[in-house]
Amino acid sequence: MAEEHDAIVVGAGPNGLCAAITLAQAGLSVRVLEAESTLGGGARSGALTLPGFNHDLGSTVQALGLASPFLKTLPLERLGVVWCQPDAPLAHPQDDGSATLLERSVDATAEGLGRDAGAYRRLMAPLVQSADRLAVELLGPMGPARPPRHPLLLARFGLSGFRSATGLARARFKGSDARALFAGMASHSFLPLENLASAAFGLVLGTFGHAVGWPVVKQGSQKLADALAVHLCSLGGDVVTGHRVAGFGDLPPARAHLFDVTPRQLVAIAGDRLPPRYRRKLMRSRYGPGIFKLDWALDGPVPWKAQGCERAGTVHLGGTMDEIAASESEVGAGGHPERPYVLTVQPSLWDPTRAPAGKHTLWAYCHVPNGSTVDMTERIEDQIERFAPGFRDRILARVAAGPAELERQNANLVGGDINGGLQDLRQLFTRPVIKFDPYSAPTEGIYICSSSTPPGGGVHGMCGHFAAKSALRRSFK
Ligand SMILES: Cc1cc2nc3c(=O)[nH]c(=O)nc-3n(C[C@H](O)[C@H](O)[C@H](O)COP(=O)(O)OP(=O)(O)OC[C@H]3O[C@@H](n4cnc5c(N)ncnc54)[C@H](O)[C@@H]3O)c2cc1C
Repeated sequence: MAEEHDAIVVGAGPNGLCAAITLAQAGLSVRVLEAESTLGGGARSGALTLPGFNHDLGSTVQALGLASPFLKTLPLERLGVVWCQPDAPLAHPQDDGSATLLERSVDATAEGLGRDAGAYRRLMAPLVQSADRLAVELLGPMGPARPPRHPLLLARFGLSGFRSATGLARARFKGSDARALFAGMASHSFLPLENLASAAFGLVLGTFGHAVGWPVVKQGSQKLADALAVHLCSLGGDVVTGHRVAGFGDLPPARAHLFDVTPRQLVAIAGDRLPPRYRRKLMRSRYGPGIFKLDWALDGPVPWKAQGCERAGTVHLGGTMDEIAASESEVGAGGHPERPYVLTVQPSLWDPTRAPAGKHTLWAYCHVPNGSTVDMTERIEDQIERFAPGFRDRILARVAAGPAELERQNANLVGGDINGGLQDLRQLFTRPVIKFDPYSAPTEGIYICSSSTPPGGGVHGMCGHFAAKSALRRSFK
């Protein structure tokens, strides 16, 4: 059969779309095949609860999107992306009715940390000053295939980042507020906070919180995915939705096929074309914990007890560092904490298009073991009530999604893992397998471009961009 397209991308998540854009920018004809009826993968939005309420079905806080060296080069704003910046990126309330805030300014944040003000400034200020260069290093593959551009900066980051989050927080901070604030950010790693390199996630998210903010996208994350698709089309590419690829036979011929899927899915689709050794390695790649997600339509804003939470986009619930660390360790050991660490985001406070006037949306999840079937609704709502008494009285409607439901909505969320694989020290930079070029399979013309490759999870498109560059080097020399 004649090749109608130079390249086919399977999956229209942020990485699939960025892979396609990179190929189209090089003058190639590209088609993206998406299984679901709407494009965007983890950047989709829609009606979930009640008429007039718009919810992010996957990602909602787009700090990595704004920091992404590749997305920065695209005309996203011209294509309709409006970044809605909360007053403060993050609040972390405690039982005594106080809250610690991550403000846009390092100094303003430090002022709220009492005796840890100086330590916070010393830790974060140099990273924030170098945020652009750090993004280039950390949002890309590392290793021999791409030697560091800023080795000294990376080494300085590594001194703190390779530590455990609890180790770094105890060494740097004396007070419980700074420790809890840092632990909440580091918990985005999905790792027990005693694990090596869990500190890196706290440092990266804190740095981007100061440098670019933690915005939501006006009208939902879908707008970001739609903008990527419109840009792709303007470059001559296209996206076909409702086309699930089950095997190679479902694919039009092309010189390169790029897969925005996770290792297990790639084996299911292309296994008979892959050398057995590579196939086995892909199957050994480990998935991380899953999430249990809740979305609410609310009669009013969340009635936070602590002043300051109403100024934040994201509110981390879990109390002290020790309590959060215990909760994350329990998940890592296969358990379901009674009092889980809960990430909540209140998009409608910053984007009024999300709910009818006076009403609000709330988005939240907690971590659960991969494939968990436990309903965490009560425990998550108990945690919110703990810091916002009267919350339940404001609920107009709720929709819960555990790992199985999430995977039904997006096949990449294997067992509820939203990062395409565990992001521990062993797998962070060597995903999906240890390989000089992690994006290319040993079979000519097959590439993996999802968050299962470096630099991993998040809506930044960098995995797709680097996978496409690999394809350009190898299949289109
Ligand atoms: C609930 C949730 C909350 C999150 N919160 C955040 C956040 O706030 N900020 C952030 O930066 N990141 C967040 N993330 C993570 C982020 O969404 C992902 O890391 C990102 O979307 C990964 O992009 P991707 O393109 O690799 O994969 P995905 O976005 O998962 O896209 C993969 C696409 O491939 C399609 N596909 C799969 N199999 C096939 C097949 N066989 N045939 C055709 N198509 C197929 C899927 O339908 C999907 O559209 C969140 C994710 C989830 C699910």
